[in-house]
Amino acid sequence: MKRRIQLLPDHVANQIAAGEVVQRPASVVKELIENAVDANAQHINLLVKDAGKTLVQVIDDGDGMTDTDARLSLERHATSKISKAEDLFKIHTKGFRGEALASIAAIAHLEMKSKTDDSDIGVQINVEGSEVSQQIPTVTPTGTSIAVKNLFFNIPARRNFLKSDSVELKHIIDEFQRVALAHPDISFKMIHNGNELFNLPQSNLRQRIVGIMGSKSNEKLVPVSEDTDLIKIRGFIGKPEFAKRSRGEQFFFVNNRFIKNNYLNHAITMAYEGLLKDKTHPSYFLYLEIDSERIDINIHPTKTEIKFDDQHAIYSILQSAIKHSLGQFNIAPSLDFEKDSSFETSYRQHKNPAKLPEIEVDRDFNPFKEEKQNPRPQASFQQSSFQHEKKAVPSNWEDLYNVESAIADDQQQTNLFEDKQVEQSSKSFQLNNKYIVTPFKSGVLMMNQHRAHFRILYEELLKNITEQPAASQQLLFPLELSLNVHSIEIFKELKESLENTGFSFTKMTNQSVVINGIPDMIQESQVDQIIDELFSEFENEIPETGFESNTILAKSLAKNMAIKNGISLKEDEQQQLINSLFYCKDYLQTPDDKQIFINLSVDDIDKKFA
Ligand code: ADP
Ligand code: MG
Repeated sequence: MKRRIQLLPDHVANQIAAGEVVQRPASVVKELIENAVDANAQHINLLVKDAGKTLVQVIDDGDGMTDTDARLSLERHATSKISKAEDLFKIHTKGFRGEALASIAAIAHLEMKSKTDDSDIGVQINVEGSEVSQQIPTVTPTGTSIAVKNLFFNIPARRNFLKSDSVELKHIIDEFQRVALAHPDISFKMIHNGNELFNLPQSNLRQRIVGIMGSKSNEKLVPVSEDTDLIKIRGFIGKPEFAKRSRGEQFFFVNNRFIKNNYLNHAITMAYEGLLKDKTHPSYFLYLEIDSERIDINIHPTKTEIKFDDQHAIYSILQSAIKHSLGQFNIAPSLDFEKDSSFETSYRQHKNPAKLPEIEVDRDFNPFKEEKQNPRPQASFQQSSFQHEKKAVPSNWEDLYNVESAIADDQQQTNLFEDKQVEQSSKSFQLNNKYIVTPFKSGVLMMNQHRAHFRILYEELLKNITEQPAASQQLLFPLELSLNVHSIEIFKELKESLENTGFSFTKMTNQSVVINGIPDMIQESQVDQIIDELFSEFENEIPETGFESNTILAKSLAKNMAIKNGISLKEDEQQQLINSLFYCKDYLQTPDDKQIFINLSVDDIDKKFA
């Protein structure tokens, strides 16, 4: 019989192994940067084109490699970092498996240039799908540069599986940030399609965090420090009031390696108990140092999980360290002597001259006069969203009121509609400043005011974005918003749509955006919060298409602009809300699928009395 079992050729074995190590361009970024860190680099530059689909290049000024090492580094299981089994239990480097370069070389075009300090001439090696196509001496600075082009060129299925550039870029930025946060003493740069996204000089930890998260983050950080025999904890946590809706700013490092650990995350969340608003997550940047024999990191090449000998003890120590820091922060402002003074004030306070507190007195106030037409705090509410004219009967009116059985002809239906208008304008009231209750011929309608407004604004904003840009109110004093790199990238994609909703922008840098116009419907004081929420929405859920992006945008803006429950409304405002709602395409549910009103018919009421 013919032999059926054969050893796979190397390049096939490498391709299979590559599937484990390299899932997307971000995996290449991670492996290359970690190698540079392991090689003792002081400066690491990352160049990316088309979210890594065309090029990922990492240039370092580390130890470099000799010709032989450079060639060997591309073989599978070739590593300088461990040599015997025992070494696995005391790993101090990021890499140790010796598979990354071999895997990447199996599925991309790789060009490596490297030189050690004690040689004058370096080496250049080109590999395409595991085949070395050239190896020549070259002039290059000490250190290593590895360029990875056309990732997955020989695995079309994988290549097609890649997500949009914005998704892939977000993964790359995530990996970049994790390594950069773990090594503030190394300088990092990242350039994407010619734009410098990060330029992080060597610094202390606090400065590094601020460099990555944006200058606004400085005021939000509280230091954490704890030393025990088992573990040393350092780092910063976010003040509770700045907790965000996304989990984007949660970082754990164990011995300078980024890890995820739900159990320890829980310890932190519990330490914040009672201090957080609903559905928000605290930021944290925590560095645990522990004897490397007490942890097991050798689980999977791309996994960020880690096992601890003594999870429970670490849980308690961590929790109490966080509580301690939060407690200190509550009684006394924290001092940080390492802090760079230029980070001292928030961006807002920087710009504005100090003001004396003033008290405003309404000198015309007369308690016996009829109520004046004061502008209300929710002035926005009265504008634009209720400018629907009295048009023909909307088609949905009919099903809403379930009139088809009662009404036979058009004539009567129109009457009913008009009748309803009359009825509404005389009889609606607010329950608990939350529900608007209106009687109509065959029952009572109870509508949640926030949800109704949410739906109305959503449809209006979508229309602004796609067909009919909204008017903008110009600001006398433009607002400067400071943003982190994630937000800037998101912002670039949303800019045009935001402009259609009435925002206008002037200057934009890598750190901030200047807003000089805002939609008619909102007030200046709301802008910060609305934009913040918007970005956390996009960090949670990255849209794949422009359409999806528009709906997320409209949804987030509408939700935050919509009138809150608990606000009292005049009767004509209530009327406008009801009328505008029933001109909406989908007036039954909010954009996030919650019921907007309930409709109690006389029949239902009769049943209750039965
Ligand atoms: P590992 O990092 O697990 O050892 P890699 O495949 O990532 O495996 O790298 C193989 C070897 O190549 C490393 O052990 C190291 O000796 C060498 N190497 C890789 N990248 C660099 C670099 N940027 N500078 C110096 N040496 C490097
Ligand atoms: Mg490596």
